[in-house]
Amino acid sequence: MSQDKIYQRLLSAIRAAYSAHPALPAFTPLPDNLPRQPLDPEHRPCSTELQTETGLQSSGFAELQEQIIASAPFMKWRQIYGNDQQNKFMDRLGCYAIIGEGGPFASDEMRLFIIYMPPNLYYPWHIHPAEELYMVISGHAVFKREGCPDESLTEGQSMFHESNQPHAMETSDTPMLSLVAWRNHLNTPPVLVDID
Ligand code: FE
Repeated sequence: MSQDKIYQRLLSAIRAAYSAHPALPAFTPLPDNLPRQPLDPEHRPCSTELQTETGLQSSGFAELQEQIIASAPFMKWRQIYGNDQQNKFMDRLGCYAIIGEGGPFASDEMRLFIIYMPPNLYYPWHIHPAEELYMVISGHAVFKREGCPDESLTEGQSMFHESNQPHAMETSDTPMLSLVAWRNHLNTPPVLVDID
């Protein structure tokens, strides 16, 4: 199958998920027109880990999960925080863009990513000016937000992060796969912050 066909199948599965889960379009609508942009795939070990992951089963997002994994070899896996020693969690944290910079589809209105966390991974406190919505596709994780109680989220549940609200995530014995949407202030990358 051509690379372009793989991206189009992924986008079709995204559109279906947006139709089925109102929290997604309520956060930011999916543009009707999403032009293709050039993408040079970049591999990271988390791509292989996702493709061999056995702990993710999704009932409501089965097609989307399948297309996310099928797309993994053709995506630009992101090194979000730079490659220094205190960022060892980035060796295992999986992220690629679908819409926006670094992804196969262009938009100035929103960005859309996937985040894959294998079991027993702590994604430390971080902030970014973009508002953010997580929609869990499969597995589960504990979501931490400054000023709020921790919440354990599973498939079909979503979490909103306000602009510059510190947040963190942690998996235990199961992995987690999520869609992550951004709106507003799309061009400022996340930074880690000291909270605990
Ligand atoms: Fe975030």
